[in-house]
Amino acid sequence: MSPENLANSGIVLNVQRFSTEDGPGIRTTVFLKGCSLRCDWCQNPESWTLVPQVVWYKDRCIGARHCLSACPKQALTLTSRGMVIDRKRCDGCGSCASVCPPGAIEVLGVRRTVDDVTAEVLRDCVFYEQSGGGVTLSGGDPLFQFGFAHELLRRFRSHGLHTALDTAGYAKQEQFQALVDNSNLVLLDLKLMEPTQHQAFTGIPLEPILRNATWLGAQSKPIWIRTPIIPGFTDSTDNIKTIATFIRENLPRVERWDLLGFNKLCISKWQRLDMPFACADTPLVSIDQMAHLMETARESLVSRITWSGVTREAMASVQHQLE
Ligand code: SF4
Ligand code: SF4
Repeated sequence: MSPENLANSGIVLNVQRFSTEDGPGIRTTVFLKGCSLRCDWCQNPESWTLVPQVVWYKDRCIGARHCLSACPKQALTLTSRGMVIDRKRCDGCGSCASVCPPGAIEVLGVRRTVDDVTAEVLRDCVFYEQSGGGVTLSGGDPLFQFGFAHELLRRFRSHGLHTALDTAGYAKQEQFQALVDNSNLVLLDLKLMEPTQHQAFTGIPLEPILRNATWLGAQSKPIWIRTPIIPGFTDSTDNIKTIATFIRENLPRVERWDLLGFNKLCISKWQRLDMPFACADTPLVSIDQMAHLMETARESLVSRITWSGVTREAMASVQHQLE
């Protein structure tokens, strides 16, 4: 068994306090590293792999070069064009980040124990109680570190916390079911309903996700659905209609469906990780298209349908104001 499957520790990207979009009330969202999918439009490419990854922030660097001598693998070179990170050599040990005074080098992902994460989450109990909130396990996808995610959810529940699972739903059935069983709410992504496109744009088959979703629909568990609206990928009327039909026919406990408009705030993340962003030239969604998709989504009969994100027109207006 790999260390990542051990239940008592795992790789955590971030613990975000005072979240308000990842379930009801005020919540703490725990982002685990690792995801089985490779969505072309991913906003969190740093969550794909389990290994900790080094990133460098040009605007914070004062050129002190402490990181270069601290690196035991000689993985860093500071050039006139910026820091070059040899990712084949780097093992994410963090020595570079620990000697950088302004925090220009950061290691994304750190191994933490269930005890440690739980203690941090419990700090905000008073806010959860007052707001009807709790804790959300997100990622990446928590299913990628099944053992750790399972133990975290069990521990949170042993303290009486409301738990939400934010997932793309791709996993063995028994693992999906075990995490759902320990969650009070499931936030499930449904992105693309055409199998060939799903495979092409997310890197994995659709069928296991729909199988898990169908099982979920037969449980007495509240569900929120999330659909990224990516022009040219997921924004067709057909796609939203098919998701609406799937929800209506298979997921009677869906309380809310969020349409998440594409944005490009993640571009700098892709650049810092030396990864090409397939959606760099993808346009933002237009107001008319979003209104049309919202109307189409009503066919699901879900009572609460929301959308968020920046539209093409809003961005044009900001640019106009800046000129
Ligand atoms: S994380 Fe460790 S191996 Fe990687 S660049 Fe920093 S010091 Fe070198
Ligand atoms: S499921 Fe989410 S985290 Fe994983 S690749 Fe897709 S968008 Fe990124």
